[in-house]
Amino acid sequence: MSHPVSPPTHPAAPARLSLAGDSLEQLRARLMTDGQASFRADQVFNWIHARRTFDFDEMTNLAKSLRLHLNERYSVVDLDVQRRVRSQTSNCEKFLFRLADGAWIEAVWMGFEKRSTLCVSTQVGCALDCAFCATATMGFRRHLSAAEIVQQVLWVTAQPGLELSNVVFMGMGEPLHNYENVAAALRLLHDDRGLALSRRRMTVSTAGLVPQIRRMTADDLPCKLAVSLNAVTNEKRSALMPINRKYPLDPLFAACKEWTEATGQRVTFEYILMEGVNDGPDDIRGLRARLSRLPSKLNLIYYNPTERGFQSSGQPVYQRFFDELQNAPFTVTLRQNMGTDIDAACGQLLVKEERAEAAE
Ligand code: SF4
Repeated sequence: MSHPVSPPTHPAAPARLSLAGDSLEQLRARLMTDGQASFRADQVFNWIHARRTFDFDEMTNLAKSLRLHLNERYSVVDLDVQRRVRSQTSNCEKFLFRLADGAWIEAVWMGFEKRSTLCVSTQVGCALDCAFCATATMGFRRHLSAAEIVQQVLWVTAQPGLELSNVVFMGMGEPLHNYENVAAALRLLHDDRGLALSRRRMTVSTAGLVPQIRRMTADDLPCKLAVSLNAVTNEKRSALMPINRKYPLDPLFAACKEWTEATGQRVTFEYILMEGVNDGPDDIRGLRARLSRLPSKLNLIYYNPTERGFQSSGQPVYQRFFDELQNAPFTVTLRQNMGTDIDAACGQLLVKEERAEAAE
């Protein structure tokens, strides 16, 4: 398996600090330290998160001296958009951003009939090494800050023609490995003085970090829980997702059940069907047995082929899973195939871009 050759990146202090990840309370404290009145922070927060205005010069109710001060020390959205690719086959768009330290991340916007969803990254690379994933070939480079996560959302809200109703933490990285920053971003996006995204409109998708799922439950994070399942036996899942050796299926499902009991919500299990790997009759039986034990929903997801040697199961196999699980006590959905032509799966476009850059 070939690996991208760019050197690892490290967080570097940007010239100006982004305020995008500050809660209102943090922003008050920050601006008061700068000698400003507390209510100025409320105004700035309102401009950024409620009005989505990111240029301090356009914050017209601020004194000119304060705008100057903010411009000298801070920024709001400083993502550098390197590529923006629109799918020709589905209502889907992918963005490649360069961060202040030169690291690259991706976000994918998907427009559906009744909603539009942004999939954001939470780390540069990922440590979890899932066998089918393009991002895994990068290894782990660093966590994104809360500001870098929130900026992906803010940037998209400012693009003409891109509606945004839902955010899924399902891009590059394992969100719960970056728990603190993901939790801060969720709370900020949920804040009703700002974007006010309800907990039903935000989803954190994890490969199955059991202690952090328990922490989500205890902290009552304002989001839905999704688990990238992909196999229903420990042997098969450990081969696909090494994290399963540390947190096997029984403790994973126990933590999910606790979450459903505490929140009253269903867990969504994502299942990517890969030809000859996890798409047989035993897998259907295993899904029925496992998911019937708790309030749940199953998303059957098309595999966007990467260079990792797996192939998507054919359409008849997806249909068979869908049909045979119709009478199960959980909902089954067949996720629309999005963005195959733009390498929309997590990490795909970025890994290709890095290779191209390294070859120049
Ligand atoms: S599938 Fe998700 S958790 Fe697994 S390696 Fe890729 S980014 Fe990490």
